[in-house]
Formats: sequence, structure tokens, C-alpha cells
Amino acid sequence: MALHLGVTGGQGPESDRIYDVIIVGGGAAGLTAGLYASRAKMDALLLEKSVWGGQIAFTGLVENYPGFPDGAMGPDLAIWMYEQATKQGLQTLSTEVTGIELRGQIRVVQTIDGDFLAKAVVVASGGEHRKLGVPGEEEYAARGVSNCAVCDGAFFRGEIVAVIGGGDAAIDEGLYLTRLAKQVLVIHRRDQLRASPVLQERAFATPNMSFIWNSVVEEVLGDTNQVTGIRVRNVKTNEPSVLDVTGVFIYIGFDPAAAILGDLVEQDEHEYIRVSDLMATNVPGIFAAGDIRVNSLRQLVSAAGDGCVAGLSAYKYVTEEFKDGEEGAAVAATRSASSAAQ
Ligand code: NAP
Repeated sequence: MALHLGVTGGQGPESDRIYDVIIVGGGAAGLTAGLYASRAKMDALLLEKSVWGGQIAFTGLVENYPGFPDGAMGPDLAIWMYEQATKQGLQTLSTEVTGIELRGQIRVVQTIDGDFLAKAVVVASGGEHRKLGVPGEEEYAARGVSNCAVCDGAFFRGEIVAVIGGGDAAIDEGLYLTRLAKQVLVIHRRDQLRASPVLQERAFATPNMSFIWNSVVEEVLGDTNQVTGIRVRNVKTNEPSVLDVTGVFIYIGFDPAAAILGDLVEQDEHEYIRVSDLMATNVPGIFAAGDIRVNSLRQLVSAAGDGCVAGLSAYKYVTEEFKDGEEGAAVAATRSASSAAQ
């Protein structure tokens, strides 16, 4: 069961207060940033538009998060992470963030419920795997359809699986799957991979990876429990066929949810946020963590690790930049700018 919640903590979020840190996104990265910020006694507010826990709230058994010898169910981990952070004093609000702007030393987080002010912001809003948009894709999510070979590959030991896409992610994760599955069928809509030459070379040299070119998936097929196959169509000949696979790993792109930042911070050409090893963006007081940052491993444990670093970096930034006396001036300047704007 996914955890949908309203406001928690303290007297409830206030738009005229200046928080030490506002965290955008309530997945593993954001909740961990909130945990560390709260334990550092920061006045921390976390904003999430959908479900606490993010992607893990929709995941089945998680076997690669340390500390759980028999694995743990994703929705349970989501609830535990949420409870652990809020017990430490993290305040939370269900709302949608629409933008972030600078007002002197203060960062303004705009939401559909009004503006919230903070000395530092951690952006941990993740992103979304692109979807094929075909029948069965949603229905069999976590029952054979996956976007994460490292998370789910072990469930397909000795079986035949399909990988959809021809980019780096498809080939990289497909190669990972070749060590577990009996055979990996790469279904690509063209007759040439987009993946980098080194990955292509490895892919073509891997005996249990084969390629179905010029083909698109039209339906994910299954029984009452799980995936049993996919219906594909050759786009050149129009010929349909059914492939018997038990796993379908879809890698047709990932869209980081960075639109709220506009061009405020540096991003790469795919809109991933550039950060230092302390999760700092090029704008002082704005940090990024998890799947939204460049070179993310997109794993639960790495998202949590990023969140820890970002939470502690925000703490260090706030304690160094807002020393007694200077804080009062920054607050007064922000308030007068706000009232002038109204
Ligand atoms: P990507 O490079 O955009 O590749 C997406 C692939 O999916 C392309 O082959 C594309 O086909 C195909 N595709 C897109 N929409 C489709 C649809 N509706 N139906 C069927 N196929 C569709 O995305 P990515 O692989 O996620 O990589 C994103 C970025 O992360 C890239 O810069 C990549 O280099 C980087 N990355 C690097 C590594 C690595 O170096 N190990 C690993 C993962 C990701 P077309 O080729 O025909 O457009």
C-alpha cells in the first residue's frame, strides 16, 4: 500500500517562516536528506507531490538494500523511511512544487499552495522512465515488466527476457542481465544501436544476447500472475510475432524532473543536474540528490547515500553562511523584497 499523507510535524508548514532547508521530493534521496538534516537539528521541510517513498513505493521485493537478509518489500521500506525521518522531526507537506527562485540569500520554493522560504534547498525530485504506452505495460509492472535489471534481474535466472531500446541504458543493463538470464533479446526499433561503440562491441560479443531489429513492442502478454510474452511488429515488413519471455526490461529513456529549476542551475544536455561530490550545484545553497543528478546509479542505496551527503552539505552551508546577526539581515531583506513585490 502506498503512503499518501498530508502535513506532518511541528505546527505545520508556514509560508512566512524561513526554514533552514526545504527538500523537494519524498523518495529515498529526499527522505534521507530530511533524516540527516533533522538529526542535525535543522528546521527542515520536505515537499512531495505524490507518494512518500517515491519509486520504491511501487516496487516489490527489494533484495539489494543492505540490512535485510531476506529482502524487504518496497512499500514497507517507503513507510519505514518516512516514519524514521519524521520521528527525527522532519516536517512534510503533500504539495506540488512549481518553481525555485533566489531572493538574495534566501531560496524561494514555489508550490501550488504558495511560496515557502528556506536558507538551503535540496532537489531530490527524481524522474520518470519513459513508457512504451502499450497494453499490458502498466498491468504487469513489477510482475515481469521492469526498468531496473540490477533490482529485478535475479528473479529471471535461467529464463528468457526482453530488453527494449537501443541506447546505453538498454545495452548496459542488458549485458548485466546476460549473467543471469538464459537469453536476452534486445528489441530495437531501428537496425543500428544508439549505444556507445564500446558497449555495442561487448553486446555483439556476448553469445546469449541477440537482437531483433526494426521491431516495436505492441503488447505485453501475460496470465493472471505474470508476463508470458510480448507481441512485436517488424516496422519494415509489418509482420507481427509473439516472443515467449518472462521479463520485459524497458529502457527507452529517462526524464529527470528538473523542469522546476528552469535554467537556475547547471544541467547536462539531458537535463540531469550537475553536482559536486558534495551534491552542491553551481548555485550556493541549492543541492541535488538521487536520480535527478548527473551520473546517478539509480539505485535505492545510492539515492539514500546522495541524500545523506546533500542533507549534511546543506547543514554545513547553513551553519557557515547564516551566522548570528547575518541571518537577521537576510531575513529582513527577504521580507521587505516580498512585501515590495505584493
Ligand atoms: P537514450 O540514449 O535516449 O536511448 C533510448 C533508446 O530507446 C534509443 O535507442 C531509442 O531509439 C529507443 N526508444 C526511444 N523511444 C522509444 C519508443 N517509444 N519505442 C521504442 N524505442 C524507443 O536513453 P538511455 O539509454 O536511457 O540513456 C540516456 C543517457 O544516459 C545517455 O546519455 C546515455 O549515454 C547515458 N547512460 C550511459 C550509460 C553508460 O555509459 N554505461 C548507461 C546508461 C545511460 P532510437 O535509437 O531509434 O532513438
